[in-house]
Amino acid sequence: MARCPECAGNMKYNPDNRLMVCSSCGLSLSRYELDQFWNKIRNERGLETDEVAKAKNRRKDWLDWYSKSKEEKKNY
Ligand SMILES: [Zn+2]
Repeated sequence: MARCPECAGNMKYNPDNRLMVCSSCGLSLSRYELDQFWNKIRNERGLETDEVAKAKNRRKDWLDWYSKSKEEKKNY
């Protein structure tokens, strides 16, 4: 089942005009346009998750350093 890129509603295929029509918001797109839409959204999300992963790595580095320095302090 295709999902509406605008509202995530169900897209139903309308054979009359050969368009996918959203049953929630009424957005109508051809299959090609719908693919383009989702590719765009996926690319944007891909970049976002990349940034999130990078931020997590930075945080992990910091935590590693922090726990290491705590262990060092214990040795004194
Ligand atoms: Zn919709």
